[in-house]
Amino acid sequence: MNKLVVQTTTAYPQPSESAAARLLHLVHLTGSVARAEATAQLGLPRSTAAEAVAELVELGLIAQGPPERQAGAPRGRPSPQLYPDPAGPVVVAARLDSSEAELAVVGLGGSVGQRRRVPLPAYGSDPRQTLTVLAGLMREAAAGSGRACAGAAVGLAGMVRATDGLVHSALHLDWESVPAAEILAAELPGVPRVEVGKDASFAALAEHYRGAGRGARTLLTLTCEHIGIGGAVLQGGVPFTGAGSAVEAGHVVVDPTGTACPCGMRGCLEVSADGRALLGGTPSEPGDPAEVAELLRRAEEGERSAGGRIGAAAANLGRALASLANLFDPDCVVLSGLLGEYLRIAPERVHGELRASVVARTQSPKVVAGSVASPVLIGAAEQAFGRLLAEPRLLRGAMPGT
Ligand SMILES: [Zn+2]
Repeated sequence: MNKLVVQTTTAYPQPSESAAARLLHLVHLTGSVARAEATAQLGLPRSTAAEAVAELVELGLIAQGPPERQAGAPRGRPSPQLYPDPAGPVVVAARLDSSEAELAVVGLGGSVGQRRRVPLPAYGSDPRQTLTVLAGLMREAAAGSGRACAGAAVGLAGMVRATDGLVHSALHLDWESVPAAEILAAELPGVPRVEVGKDASFAALAEHYRGAGRGARTLLTLTCEHIGIGGAVLQGGVPFTGAGSAVEAGHVVVDPTGTACPCGMRGCLEVSADGRALLGGTPSEPGDPAEVAELLRRAEEGERSAGGRIGAAAANLGRALASLANLFDPDCVVLSGLLGEYLRIAPERVHGELRASVVARTQSPKVVAGSVASPVLIGAAEQAFGRLLAEPRLLRGAMPGT
């Protein structure tokens, strides 16, 4: 099998024109669909659809089950239900931050199997050593599934080069010029595709395909787990990347006289509104996310000082959103992780600042909290499945767990 090492900030791979690829994509996104409905949705002749189903069943990618009678369904012979083969291939998705890795094995249809959080102090570490440990964990996860592995993807907060997955700069890991995808791929020899991408781009994919951003034409997603704030814009599901590193939303300046940011500027959104900023932490002592949860709880109970801190962070978020709305004119804004909490607790502070944007006032974008749990992992899995979805024959003859 030819090995490809590719970056992840390009477009989510679209299925090729083959009927089997289009059908597999539909089953993957819906999780379960009646054969007749799939045939109609894809506009396929019945004989072509039947051939595609037979091919995907033979490849062990989908299975057919008894028909599900739906209210209002047209009369006639009931159509079998198509769903992902429960023994079919998986991908391994991972998220790496400054102190831990989170991993999951994900099947077609988005079913999440084993999920682990493992302490992995990556800030200031030797990147090769950290990535080798991470690859070992990913290998274990793939083997533990007992199923063929179709791909792997790792999301991290950083600028990733479009051509080969080189991490130009990851401020929260203190890494520079790290060929991350190449290092991982060397440690994952049986995996046909290994990718590294910006965590926020993966979160955006997850919300676009499976969450609060479904149906958006131009989706702006901002995400914050604890340290740093990432952003991504998808236009029709395709990430806007500029020359490779566009939408560094965490470094939109919201207060030119504010805190110095590791990027070199002052008053960036992330040093004004991430979990570390709320706690007054530093890069080496970022504080505990549990303290942030406690602060959110106190703010909800009406405690004035906690409410003031959340409100100020929410206003900073709204200020950054106003600039981003002016630039990208999104019809939907999804705020993920901690940022979704700001929207829930202090919506007026977010909206009040966002209304300063003439574009937002005119276009009234929908602003919602993210609805996908662990969006970076789920989006990484979507990315990792891309090649199989485009080439359903990718794993023909592959050994389970390799
Ligand atoms: Zn900055």
